[in-house]
Amino acid sequence: MEKSLQTALIHSDYQAPAGFRGCQPAVYHASTVLFDSVEQMRAQNWLDKGGYTYGLHGTPGSFELEARLAEIEGGKHCLLLPSGLAAIALAVMSFVKSGDDLLMPDNVYGPVKSLVNWLSRDYGITTRYYDAQVGSAMADLILPNTRLIWVEAPGSVSFEVPDVGAICAAAKKQHVPVAMDNTWAAGLAFKPFAHGVDIVLQALTKYQSGGSDLLMGALITREQKWADRLALTHMRIGMGVSSDDVYQVSRSLATLKLRFDAHDKSARELATWLAGRPEIATVLHPAFPDCPGHAIWKRDFTGAGGIFSVLFDEVYTESQVDAMVNHLKLFKIGYSWGGSHSLALPFRMPEARQEWQHRGQLLRLNVGLEAVADLIADLEQGFGWLQAQG
Ligand SMILES: *Cc1c(COP(=O)(O)O)cnc(C)c1O
Repeated sequence: MEKSLQTALIHSDYQAPAGFRGCQPAVYHASTVLFDSVEQMRAQNWLDKGGYTYGLHGTPGSFELEARLAEIEGGKHCLLLPSGLAAIALAVMSFVKSGDDLLMPDNVYGPVKSLVNWLSRDYGITTRYYDAQVGSAMADLILPNTRLIWVEAPGSVSFEVPDVGAICAAAKKQHVPVAMDNTWAAGLAFKPFAHGVDIVLQALTKYQSGGSDLLMGALITREQKWADRLALTHMRIGMGVSSDDVYQVSRSLATLKLRFDAHDKSARELATWLAGRPEIATVLHPAFPDCPGHAIWKRDFTGAGGIFSVLFDEVYTESQVDAMVNHLKLFKIGYSWGGSHSLALPFRMPEARQEWQHRGQLLRLNVGLEAVADLIADLEQGFGWLQAQG
């Protein structure tokens, strides 16, 4: 067909040779997916990942990342979402509607409280917070209208480790699905499906990205019925992900375990050093005996990653600890974790948790990939400065 220059700028006859292969997945940018014929378009169901329908429902790159994440978790189906929090919102909205009851651990990732309190206030659900260490006593909390139990292991600020298996066993008996935030263990150090979890959430923003430079979440399931339910909400709400971000996560996956293990080793060295400091009253790290649920961590987990908290001796005030954090050089101040940069973040615990008992200031550390000796030296100069104030 004869083409004018203007049309030639849009439609080219060139076709790249088939059979190209590289080590990393190709990046396809698409909202519109082209079909060969109307018949093919009509025959393609968006739920069927054996083909392509529309950018929202996937490209070769997103399908591949979903398959790899499902394999790492020991699941079958995976959905990508634009953030971990978006994935949590989608999971909750898929299972809980007006008139239903939702059980959330009291140490759940903070923004989730804002989400479910809002759904409770404006959308007619009830949310009840349970003690993260409820264990098999979960059986007594389940109501006839309970539609979802959320689990996070451990809490990402206070680090209590729940007995996921005991919670799931109680839930199974009463046919309530359990969803778990498995971000802390990165899909590596804890296997939720083996403990009876139905839906696994990963904030890929953390270790899977590893760069502190993008947001993404994943929901992973084993059963088709849960996958379809989540996929329907996903289609209705339209929370798509960027192909470039998918590429970044795919590329980082090869080093996920090496990085996670390196974070873990450094964090334990640093936590051991901190446990011996007079300024620190308690180390809240699941691999340390002071941490609530330590025995459960030992039984169920194979690693710990790079994030933990410390409680200062009560003599140190909030403004003193804040000022010490301002004096740190390698530890930067910022939210999130799982990246190569070490971060320090003080939390106002009575504000975050009404039932919080400790009086010392809580400081959460993301131990990055810097040399541990340098991180210790940084904290040491911070403590030196703190002592000089007292
Ligand atoms: C960061 C985080 C999330 C949310 O992930 P975003 O991608 O930042 O929305 C969820 N759960 C836990 C435990 C997290 O640390």
